[in-house]
Amino acid sequence: MDVAIFSSTRYEREFLDQANESAHHRLKYLDVSLNRDTVGEAAGFGAACIFVNDKADAAVLEALKSGGTGLLALRCTGFNNVDLEAAARLGLKVVRVVTYSPNSVAEHAVALLLAINRKVHRAYNRTRDSNFSLDGLTGFDLCGKTVAVVGTGKIGCVFAKIMLGFGCNVIGYDPYPSREFEAMGLRYAQPGEIGEKADVISLHCPLTPATHHIINADTLQRAKRGALLINTSRGALIDTGAVIEALKSGQLGGLAIDVYEQEADLFFRDLSNEIIPDDIIQRLISFPNVIVTGHQAYLTREALTTICETTIASITAFEHNDPLVNEVKAG
Ligand code: NAD
Repeated sequence: MDVAIFSSTRYEREFLDQANESAHHRLKYLDVSLNRDTVGEAAGFGAACIFVNDKADAAVLEALKSGGTGLLALRCTGFNNVDLEAAARLGLKVVRVVTYSPNSVAEHAVALLLAINRKVHRAYNRTRDSNFSLDGLTGFDLCGKTVAVVGTGKIGCVFAKIMLGFGCNVIGYDPYPSREFEAMGLRYAQPGEIGEKADVISLHCPLTPATHHIINADTLQRAKRGALLINTSRGALIDTGAVIEALKSGQLGGLAIDVYEQEADLFFRDLSNEIIPDDIIQRLISFPNVIVTGHQAYLTREALTTICETTIASITAFEHNDPLVNEVKAG
């Protein structure tokens, strides 16, 4: 099948080519992301393959359908960037990668937590400049501290397990309690408990209308003073303006994010020679107690292998009219 791969990166192509070795799909790698201006690139391709910041809204899906595309294959888990109702109306199938190494994302969340707590980013810069002073680098022991895991699904559970290993008191928040979480002997937070007790809050829930800006001025004001916030999930879980105010007042002790609400205009590109017009990300990066990584939490060899193998298998299943085990539907 002819497949237009939007937002393709050099490091991913190797894994996609490997997964496609026996499937023999004709893959066309495109640097551009999918949107209303670029959707014409998919005309005549049976499948379009997209990533987290491609925009598959109703207009884009209509253009895909009229160009002869029947399958939209997401090389990611989250599908908040696809209008699933429009896809169903148009008879366009949508598949995603339901699961791929939750360890990759959970371990990156831990890396961010350790770095922001122990100021590894600042120490790294200092010692490269032969500055071995320790002023301002004091962190806290994670052992014995309370860590709130918001979203106790696959990634949240792995993160919770690692935090247990550090000797933390782990509490969960999830409208749909998970047996795996409770089987670790963990419990869900009482109302108000996260704000009262959590020294660390780590976000692992999907972006939905219910979770949009789940961290806002009100939740931040109710948080424990000096708490650390980690977000490896989706940028719009956080009201970034409110977080900046909380960092300025010291209410929030530190922020480490792998995702950002306006990341579609920035991430996955080298903008080091450009003036960035986004004042919010510039303000965030200017704080000493903020670490930003560019949506790399998933970026391990194991995760890339599974993502690419699952995506190619879904395309093959679609081509052969086989059941789409990774199909995602509206509702
Ligand atoms: P999952 O579906 O296994 O778990 C998500 C959990 O969130 C579920 O238990 C669900 O009940 C819970 N949830 C739903 N609504 C909630 C709410 N209002 N409050 C709290 N919890 C709520 O998903 P997963 O595989 O663990 O992935 C979690 C998220 O991680 C994805 O949705 C995606 O946004 C993000 N992600 C990021 C990267 C990255 O590279 N940064 C990679 C993969 C996934």
